[in-house]
Order: sequence, then structure tokens, then C-alpha cells
Amino acid sequence: MRDRIEIKARAKINIGLDVIGRRDDGYHLVKMIMQSLKLYDDIIISKNNGKDILITCDKDNIPCDNRNLAYKAAKELFKEAGIDTGLSIDIKKRIPSSAGLAGGSSDAAAVLKGANELLELGFSTEELMKTGVRIGADVPYCIMGGTALSEGIGERLKRLKDFPECNILLAKPAIDVSTKYVYEKLDDISDYDHPDIDGIVEAINNGNIKRISSLMGNVLELVTEKEYNIIRRIKMIMNENGAQNAMMSGSGPTVFGIYEDEYSIKYSYEKLKKEITDLELIITGPHNAGGMDGGSRTEDGV
Ligand code: ATP
Repeated sequence: MRDRIEIKARAKINIGLDVIGRRDDGYHLVKMIMQSLKLYDDIIISKNNGKDILITCDKDNIPCDNRNLAYKAAKELFKEAGIDTGLSIDIKKRIPSSAGLAGGSSDAAAVLKGANELLELGFSTEELMKTGVRIGADVPYCIMGGTALSEGIGERLKRLKDFPECNILLAKPAIDVSTKYVYEKLDDISDYDHPDIDGIVEAINNGNIKRISSLMGNVLELVTEKEYNIIRRIKMIMNENGAQNAMMSGSGPTVFGIYEDEYSIKYSYEKLKKEITDLELIITGPHNAGGMDGGSRTEDGV
């Protein structure tokens, strides 16, 4: 029986994001295309002899107490299993936080999967996904990973074909955007165009990156682009410098651009670095799901 496990917690982007209604309890009903990225946080889980869940993280701005989603995940899992044991969770962060990249949700998903295996609890993926939704609406998707259509409040998932190979540039401006605020503001807009999510599904099934890029759409941009000009500016610079298309992920503020060739993505990277101060820039690509995402390291985390 081993006493340590290392799992990759992948970032996600939304290739499409539509809001189609609201539940009585206030949750928004969404229709989204989710895509995992090569970019990941390292989650190292080990047994400890105590009774507490101990979190450590290499980034000062992430809380290491019961507010950390990795802590909540371990607690929920233990509750489900009817156990009370000590666990140490070390998080090496690469995913920008509060970015629309599901960094926290993905760390939580990795803890559910990793601790389930390490402690030999025997929960199925479906059972872990049910536990995950109690932590956050994106957690079930983060457990599944890859390319997926997400409906309901984000918990109804359908796996899609693998995303075509491409290069993805992430640009996170130094602004704070509250997810709650963005969704509430969208409620004030009575009528707007909806992205063709079914069209994106079809384009993914056909492996047509040009068509996918041309159909990309995120209704939350209606709020954020108006209030934060920097989002529009990043998109413009990406689109003027070789991106197939550029869009905000989730409720932002990260903008991503899809590129077919490496020259354009590097050129855009340099251009953004020169023109906008305080931008977090990462070159990455889509990651397709398959098996337990842990074990020996084969990538450099981007
Ligand atoms: P989403 O795309 O799901 O909306 P996000 O990328 O916008 O997520 P996160 O990086 O998940 O946002 O962080 C949101 C908040 O959660 C931050 O205030 C952060 O302090 C808190 N948080 C709790 N646990 C974690 C974690 N393990 N990693 C990052 N943030 C965490």
C-alpha cells in the first residue's frame, strides 16, 4: 500500500458558454463546451499520522485552511466514506487563480480522485462526480476532463470527440471579476444572441478547428467586455496577429486565443507582453482525457 500519490489538476477553458435560464434557487442553467488544457497544478497527497487535513501551497494568495477547495473535497470524501483520518495535500500552482480556468475546482477534483485511490475507498467515477457537485458545479467536469458538453448547472455532462490539435494562448489581465456579479448583470440584459453550441459540438465531431473557432461564443462577455476594455483589447491583439479566434473563458477575466501555427502564437505572445503591462501569459494546448491523470511527469506543465 503506497502512502503518497501525485495527480495533475488540469485547467479548463470554455469553447462555448451560453446561459439558457435560471432555476428557482437562483442557479443559472448553462450550455457549455468544456475543454481541458495541458496546463495543470500538481497535487501531491500523502497520508499523515494525525487527524487533520493539512494544506500547503506555493502561492501566498491561496488560502490553506478550510476555504481551500482541496480541503473541502477531502472533507466531503471522508464524510461519504464515513472515515476520519489525517491527510496532507501539497498544491503546486501553475493555473492562474480567479481566472475563469477552474483552478480551484480542478484541485478539488484531483483530491477526490487521488485520495479515493490512495486510501483505497473504492468509489466509482460517477460516485466521485456526485460528491464533487457539492463542492462546485464545475467539479464533476474536472473529474471527467477532456472535451465535454455541460448542461444543467454544469453537472450534466456528455463526452465529446477529442479536440483537434492546436496551440492556445492564455492571457489573464490583472483585474478581479466576480463570477456572481457577471451572472447577475447578465440577468439585467433582456435579449441577446446566443452562441450556436450545437454547431460547435458538430464542428468538434468533424475535427474542424476553423469552424470551431468561428462559432466560439460566450454570453458573459456581454457584461465583461462592456465593463473592462482590456478584455476587448486582448482579443483584438490576438485576432490581429494570427489567432483563429479569441474569447474570454468562463466569467473571466482570462482571454484565450486559438492558433494553428506556432509562429503566430509566439508573435502574439510578444506583442501582448509589449503592449499590455501586468498580463499573465501562458502558451498551452488542449489535453484529451484518458485514464488517471497522474503518475510520472511527461509534460512541463503548460
Ligand atoms: P471558475 O473557472 O471555476 O470560476 P476560477 O478560475 O475563476 O474558477 P479559482 O482559481 O478556482 O477561480 O479561485 C476562485 C477562488 O477560490 C479564489 O478566491 C481562491 O482564493 C479560492 N480557492 C480555494 N481553493 C483554491 C485552490 N485550490 N486553488 C485556487 N483557488 C482556490
